[in-house]
Amino acid sequence: MKRSIPAKAYLIDIEGVLVRDKRYRSVPGAVEWLTALAAADRPFCLVSNNTTHRPADLVEDLFRAGFPVNENHLVGALGLGMKWLRERNRNKIHWLGTPHLEDYWGEEGFELVAEGPCDAVVLGVNPDLTISALDRVLGPVLDDGVDILCLHRNQFYLDDTGRRRLGPGAWAASLEGVGGTGQVVTVGKPSPAIYQEGLKRVGVAPEEVLFISDDPVADLVTAGRLGMRTAFVLSGKYSDHAVLARLEESDWPDIVCSRMSDIDIQEEESV
Ligand SMILES: [Mg+2]
Repeated sequence: MKRSIPAKAYLIDIEGVLVRDKRYRSVPGAVEWLTALAAADRPFCLVSNNTTHRPADLVEDLFRAGFPVNENHLVGALGLGMKWLRERNRNKIHWLGTPHLEDYWGEEGFELVAEGPCDAVVLGVNPDLTISALDRVLGPVLDDGVDILCLHRNQFYLDDTGRRRLGPGAWAASLEGVGGTGQVVTVGKPSPAIYQEGLKRVGVAPEEVLFISDDPVADLVTAGRLGMRTAFVLSGKYSDHAVLARLEESDWPDIVCSRMSDIDIQEEESV
């Protein structure tokens, strides 16, 4: 059933909304829906916590799956994390995210250390992270008070087999608990910075934006509190709305639907 909700622009999560999981196969109807949105010239931006793909590869995978997107449509946690580090001259980092991105960090001018002193510990999704890798940052965190930068704090995500895997939120909580004197900073959702960047990109006031995500807890609470309208889709992490019981009613999304193609794209005049 189509759901109507007025919006002039759309901020859209990727995994669980456009694609089901890390295999990047499109959710039924999502390509057609985004193509219609682009054809109607409605501004949209992909606001993603992805920390496993280079931004260019992420956009390329989506384009290959049929989505009308380019790099200008993407605001990602990885890019915001690099910006945060550069602004503070934190060049030497201990990266606990996926080894696939080690070259990318190097190309972007960062020095990766596997052991010993560093300017920051950086967390991203890493399905192969080991306890001993976490142990190796205890020195910098406990003795040197270095900051821990979480590209995001999702507790879990769906891997390329659709299986739930613990995410950086779980590792962040364990490192936070050891009692270092540095800060623990998050740049991706649910931190407001990434939403503000998305709003800047579409150039529309928050109350005229619809944020669409498969995660009402990590993604939509902040969007709603910033004044956006929110849509929770059941095509990703959650197959029913039971998860809403974890939230205050004031943080519930405006609409819940099976997938993004259930959302009626409003005519400009009726917004
Ligand atoms: Mg998602």
